[in-house]
Amino acid sequence: MPDAITIAALAAGFKYVKDAVSLLKDAKDLLPAGEKREAAQRLLVEAEERIPVAEAQLAKALGYQLCRCDYPPAIMLETGQPPRPRCPKCGRVEGEAAEHRYSEEEEKVLHFLVNAPYGGIPAVVVAQNVGIAPAKAEYYLDSLSQSGMVGCNLSMAGPPEYYLEQAGKGYLVKRNLL
Ligand SMILES: [Zn+2]
Repeated sequence: MPDAITIAALAAGFKYVKDAVSLLKDAKDLLPAGEKREAAQRLLVEAEERIPVAEAQLAKALGYQLCRCDYPPAIMLETGQPPRPRCPKCGRVEGEAAEHRYSEEEEKVLHFLVNAPYGGIPAVVVAQNVGIAPAKAEYYLDSLSQSGMVGCNLSMAGPPEYYLEQAGKGYLVKRNLL
């Protein structure tokens, strides 16, 4: 493992290499068309592919965490409050449990409940409006209410009626669906 000074020097060096590559991309067009320009083109393409890989390796040596959502791996930077390693590509935050993602249909069910009248809506009405089978709507609503996303009013007179809980609303807001 390289020592800290070597790593710091490498990190500074990377910035120059990246700047040089982007400068050369413009400059290569000034070369007369032919072998040399093609060779320059090939080298630049290769450099552009390899730099991010080498950079990620360097970041790891510097103690940064890498996110595997992409290749070359994304370097997680400490941002936000409190500062936590965060992936600039997928937004994953290290140490935070991955948020449960509901299916598109479940999200539609949640979204339909946004405008539920006071007291709630029976599953069969949700099914009709979302375009799914009543049994499926019942199943979704039941499991959503078990996880606290949806509330349920049981009545003696009719079927249970469902409404959106604060957690469900929060989920839609976070996912930009509201
Ligand atoms: Zn990521």
